[in-house]
Amino acid sequence: MADIAAPAYRIIPIIPVLKPGAMEGVKSFVASDKINEALGFPGHLVDDWHDRAIARMGELLSKYRSLRVYMDACVHCGACSDKCHYFIGTQDPKNMPVARQDLMRSVYRRYFTLPGKLFPKLVGARDLTREVLDEWYNYYHQCSECRRCSVFCPYGIDTAEVTMAAREILDSVGYGQKYSNEIIGKVHKIGNNLGLPGPALQDTLQGLEEDVKEDTGTDVRFPMDVKGAEVLLITPSADFFAEPHIDSLIGYAKVFHATGTSWTLSSMASEAANFGIFIGNYDQLRKIALRIRQAALELGVKRIVVGECGHAWRVAYSFWNTLSGVGEGADPNDRFAQMLQKQLDHRYKQPMHICEFTWDMIGRNALSFDKEANDKHIITFHDSCNVARGSRMGDFAGGQFEIPRNIIKAVANNFVEMSPETIREQTFCCGGGGGLLTDDLIDLRVKGALPRMEVLQQVVDEHGVNFMATICAICKAQFTKVMPIYGFDRRMVGGVHQLVSNAIILGDK
Ligand code: SF4
Ligand code: SF4
Repeated sequence: MADIAAPAYRIIPIIPVLKPGAMEGVKSFVASDKINEALGFPGHLVDDWHDRAIARMGELLSKYRSLRVYMDACVHCGACSDKCHYFIGTQDPKNMPVARQDLMRSVYRRYFTLPGKLFPKLVGARDLTREVLDEWYNYYHQCSECRRCSVFCPYGIDTAEVTMAAREILDSVGYGQKYSNEIIGKVHKIGNNLGLPGPALQDTLQGLEEDVKEDTGTDVRFPMDVKGAEVLLITPSADFFAEPHIDSLIGYAKVFHATGTSWTLSSMASEAANFGIFIGNYDQLRKIALRIRQAALELGVKRIVVGECGHAWRVAYSFWNTLSGVGEGADPNDRFAQMLQKQLDHRYKQPMHICEFTWDMIGRNALSFDKEANDKHIITFHDSCNVARGSRMGDFAGGQFEIPRNIIKAVANNFVEMSPETIREQTFCCGGGGGLLTDDLIDLRVKGALPRMEVLQQVVDEHGVNFMATICAICKAQFTKVMPIYGFDRRMVGGVHQLVSNAIILGDK
């Protein structure tokens, strides 16, 4: 960390001066044989990787019509080129979204289009050489799949989907990334990203009960594996021990306590995160989601609520219905999905975000707050990419933006927005999402945080902001790591339910 420096803030955020090759040597650690094989991938790069990669690409192009459209539709207008935080921070032209897509598009042209087969040079088509494969590995692991670029593309081309396809192809030939694949292996084996076994979780939860009792004098429970509970809370495992995540877990527990809601965590499904989406692998995505279904069925819960985790909420909101039968559209031929459909209480949204739960309870006048408890904070809100651009909350357009803000305003007196072109659907990624929250990519992570740090600095200077709330476990972990490099106090970042926890009045209703 000592030699990692934050890039200088830009006076006027214009298109950066290009630094070709600036990040070409930055390579996330490659997964070992053991890690890859645990997920059913080849252990290491197979001898016939070229043919297998092209075959897998062909399969993905036929399966996902969107991918073929993205390969064909780009007119190189450049509207996306300066919209990526990694390009802004690194100045490497290959981190422009259009250039990132072209890494795959050039190979697509060579093998899947007639002009590319006949006149490759004329149409910018390239053979898939080992050099190109390495370039894919490096630059598709410098994309956090945040989808900001797609907001600005007139054709809606989604670079995140191209990145997912590239990672899926890389895994299929034994060239997987250590960080994501190792984490998925832990979820399969133990139940969460951190590899925390059930007894360790029980200890942590018991310790939290004691801490909250000492702080508030109230017996707030943190139950685990309680059969017949109303709500199953699925939350990122970082909430169990990491700072500031744990303060939000305390906030959820206080909300459940204050509203008299019976709830439980699950030792088997002790993880909301689903890194299957990061590696673009449907089978892994489904396998991880099925743990949650199994836990819900075994515990007999009526509702499933998801904690503060950006991509987990995207997976829950957008994919759980077809992956596991939570929500509308469950597979009529999937017996377990249908069992779950019968079991869940459809008077409530399934699944529901914890912010929706809390906001609903505030609307029912079931919670009371002492807003002055948050008066030491001047608060801003960082929209997390997967919540902002991959999901929704509530039953109105933009609910994913309004509901967390509404909660903050209900529990605190001082709220300030950051610059409008950097929030809501145009929000900048924290710089650590999409499977990049690993120390081997710390240089990229620091540089990728630049646009968010610049606008945070503005509200700090102009309004004295001293707290940036967010509802994503990855954003919290990334910011606490990189903010000190930009000269901020790491305690400036925290969850929305951390603020709820500060202000909630227990035992009032
Ligand atoms: S990191 Fe985000 S903005 Fe950059 S290319 Fe990937 S999806 Fe687009
Ligand atoms: S904005 Fe869309 S069409 Fe234009 S260069 Fe980017 S991806 Fe291509």
